[in-house]
Amino acid sequence: MGGQNPEYAATPVIPAAALTLAEMLVQGWALRTQCKKCGTVLKVHLPSAIAVLGAEAIPWGRTPPCQVVSDHRFPCEGRLTYLARTKPHTAWKPLHKVADRELAILRDNRIARVRHSRQGADD
Ligand SMILES: [Zn+2]
Repeated sequence: MGGQNPEYAATPVIPAAALTLAEMLVQGWALRTQCKKCGTVLKVHLPSAIAVLGAEAIPWGRTPPCQVVSDHRFPCEGRLTYLARTKPHTAWKPLHKVADRELAILRDNRIARVRHSRQGADD
């Protein structure tokens, strides 16, 4: 009784856990956008985002323009930030910009993982 179910312990929202939209979808992450100017929060439907931006798109650090139009007249000029959580009922965390150096390391690791799994398949 009490204590946390270890199976429910949330994966941290870090680029090493899921870098691309496809990885977030596979891992069951939920995504939202929030406008810094008007405060509007929207759900991101990951399959739709993948259809538009591509499976390999990286939402970390992206700040697309807000699409809200107030009173049918005033387009918001704010920028969106992406927020994610890896399990329901956990805190939403901003997808901060990934430094180029970290991005390069993560990409190298992913290529190595793919190579490794392909070698495994050939055995
Ligand atoms: Zn806005």
